[in-house]
Amino acid sequence: MMAQYLEIKAQYKDALLFYRMGDFYELFFDDAVAASAALDIALTKRGKHDGNDIAMCGVPFHAAEGYLLTLIRKGFRVAVAEQLENPAEAKKRGYKAVVKRDVVRLITPGTLTEETLLDARQHNYLAAYAEVRKTGAIAWTDISTGEFHVTDCPRIRLSPELARLGPRELLIVDGLQAELSDLTDDLGISVTALSKASFDSTSGERRLCDLFKISTPDAFGEFSRAEHGAMGALIEYLDITQKGQLPLLRPPIREKTGGVMQIDPATRRNLEITQSLSGGKDGSLLHAIDRTVTAGGGRLLQGCIASPSRDLVTINARHDSVQFFVETSRLRNDLRAALQKTPDMDRAISRIGLDRAGPRDLTAIRNGLTQAEQIAKYLESADLPDDLQHTCQDLGGHHDLIALLDDALVAEPPFIVRDGGFIASGYHVELDETRKLRDEGRGVIAGLQADYAQQCEVSSLKIKHNNVLGYFIETTATHAEKMLSAPLSETFIHRQTTANAVRFTTVPLSELETKILNAGNRALEIEKQLFASLRQTILDNAAQVLSTASALSKFDLFTAFADLASGENWCRPQMEDSNAFDITGGKHPVVEQALRRQGSQSFVANDCALSKGDDGADIWLLTGPNMAGKSTFLRQNALIALLAQAGSFVPAEKAQIGIVSQLFSRVGASDDLARGRSTFMVEMVETAAILNQADDRALVILDEIGRGTATYDGLSIAWATLEHLHDVNKCRALFATHYHEMTALADKLTGVQNATVAVKEWEGDVIFLHEVRKGAADRSYGVQVARLAGLPDAVVARARVVLDALEQGEREGGKKPKALIDDLPLFAATPPVQATMRKQSAVEDKLRDIMPDDLSPKDALTLLYELKDLL
Ligand code: ADP
Repeated sequence: MMAQYLEIKAQYKDALLFYRMGDFYELFFDDAVAASAALDIALTKRGKHDGNDIAMCGVPFHAAEGYLLTLIRKGFRVAVAEQLENPAEAKKRGYKAVVKRDVVRLITPGTLTEETLLDARQHNYLAAYAEVRKTGAIAWTDISTGEFHVTDCPRIRLSPELARLGPRELLIVDGLQAELSDLTDDLGISVTALSKASFDSTSGERRLCDLFKISTPDAFGEFSRAEHGAMGALIEYLDITQKGQLPLLRPPIREKTGGVMQIDPATRRNLEITQSLSGGKDGSLLHAIDRTVTAGGGRLLQGCIASPSRDLVTINARHDSVQFFVETSRLRNDLRAALQKTPDMDRAISRIGLDRAGPRDLTAIRNGLTQAEQIAKYLESADLPDDLQHTCQDLGGHHDLIALLDDALVAEPPFIVRDGGFIASGYHVELDETRKLRDEGRGVIAGLQADYAQQCEVSSLKIKHNNVLGYFIETTATHAEKMLSAPLSETFIHRQTTANAVRFTTVPLSELETKILNAGNRALEIEKQLFASLRQTILDNAAQVLSTASALSKFDLFTAFADLASGENWCRPQMEDSNAFDITGGKHPVVEQALRRQGSQSFVANDCALSKGDDGADIWLLTGPNMAGKSTFLRQNALIALLAQAGSFVPAEKAQIGIVSQLFSRVGASDDLARGRSTFMVEMVETAAILNQADDRALVILDEIGRGTATYDGLSIAWATLEHLHDVNKCRALFATHYHEMTALADKLTGVQNATVAVKEWEGDVIFLHEVRKGAADRSYGVQVARLAGLPDAVVARARVVLDALEQGEREGGKKPKALIDDLPLFAATPPVQATMRKQSAVEDKLRDIMPDDLSPKDALTLLYELKDLL
């Protein structure tokens, strides 16, 4: 057995080997050590190898999925070796023969299909990156839904593309790991290296043709050599991991370059699009706007938010669809109620394709298609916009399949095929009979006995059972005569004569007996056969079922967007091919929700106008104290552009947006200790990327750039950056800064306008109005904000003194800070105000205890002395 183990293990060196032994998967040697630590299970030993103990641990096979999930999450790959025959078969080959085993599946992060291993609302992409000479391409698939895409992708765009797709696993050519490790580590992608041959474009083209049984891939589009290479590597890897059982992939969709808004990884992080900065979904844009009710709709929404379109026609068509459902709230609610009952057909059919399905996957298809028909009925008389009309056509046409599954399956089947019980009665004559025999064997015999009694006219005829004869018919000797002679003797076969009775059997009875004995097994066998045939029928219709699943996801997406838009009072953005960016009454969807939840003040809506008109500007320079709402304002405008191009309505009263090609967002000196880079360095690298890449249709958001270094350095860098954006990039931008000196730039640069977030001062405190207005902030209110934050009074008071001195010095003609500091009185940790307060209260305390009526003149005098002492 160990020899067999080692032989198999040698082929899967980089994976943990789950070696099936009876009811357990066992792991040995280093695999056992690693797995027992990762799973927190006991490590034992079994036998010796080369004189050393063999480490071992195991997990029960029926609970294996949970353990697999933990291992995959922890970055392991697992090869599952099953027993390919039962031990009895092995014994036939010899007393010591080992049961045949082999790996049936290699489980990796990018090739999961089990419901328990997957997040229902998230894609699980496996991607491959190929390079051919100077060109590159990336192909990606989700085998749990069959999606398959490919696009050209030069190395420089690999980072934003991977950030957009967020694959769980990336295939690259061996040797490239080190070069890409920064990127893949950063995005948490598990990397698998394949040989150069796997990426060969000619064999890639052949693999594609073989997979889809076509003679040329031209029907799917014109692919570059790198694209063929990437798709080929994907298919080969699936072949390896699924051991030849290829998943049901849809034909590859070629995404054209430039079709989506470009958003790099740093921007995605900053804007908290699908994940908040703390890592979870909570607090992200996606979380705040997700009103989808199906898993497929949830995945589609995530895709749209991660890859907003740049195509005016596509975007307008999406807005038409949303508008239609905003205007038809009844229909929308009917649809959403039906969608809510729709199971995840994409994933069910993928498991059916891989022969990993259970009865519930079949009912998922049945229930999903039934809801689709229902939805099609709701939409029958609706005046749908073109795009939805088109989608609607994919909903129906499953009448026969639904009828078949309806007839064949029970309402609520069990999870697994093994125990049967999922085929409905009345569907299959033999199965019904078999089950009847199994369940009501005695009843059937009783029926037969009555039949025979009538046929022989012997009312005392009995059917009995014993261990020697099994079932038999018994009559008394007197009646037996009749049955031993023709014509009854043709039916009744003599078995035995005893002192008092004669025993017979009949062909139907012995058949019945065998049937009863085997009924249980037979019923199971029939159910399995029926399962296989239903599975095949579904697979024969797979393409149409997948189209219906996609159509349902789209209806879910648009009704969800519409529900959000009407619930939150969002508006349809007017999209155009220009540089416009005019938002009236814009809000930050996540911050607004958070404020509402806290029940504190409501969100203050703000306008933003970056359309270059006669006197307009395409860059706003935003000043204002910390905590005023600058970052919120910056981000809300970026999110509005993103939402609009994703197809959603936007949180504003009115919005006019010229298509945004690229979205950039940077925050000055964010802490990046985890990645071990100097914060200032990160800030500069990221700013450089914007200045080098932003085209004139980009929307750039810079928040406190330059803050990570000394004042004058920071100011100079911010200054030069703004000039570059204005003169060279010529893009729309929002630039928040605390360098008030920069507000002078608005007079120099025609496209730059000053704006500020208003605050009010009241009794020395600052009150945030959160209103964005034209003009520059008069001062920064830093000291007041610090006080609000709970800085000790002494420090606040001291800061005021220093600030006054500095400001006075500036007014008096630029006295050097050093000289000013020298002139300042020394810091007193306990300012006089506070000391006085403490004494006063001691005197007050004393006075409060006095009862004047009880005091003699002498006591009064003594008390007076005591009080004086307290001062
Ligand atoms: P800044 O970038 O100027 O330091 P932020 O944008 O981080 O300020 O905003 C600080 C806080 O003010 C936010 O957490 C939010 O609670 C509140 N806030 C910001 N903008 C608004 C607004 N428009 N209406 C209401 N509250 C707001």
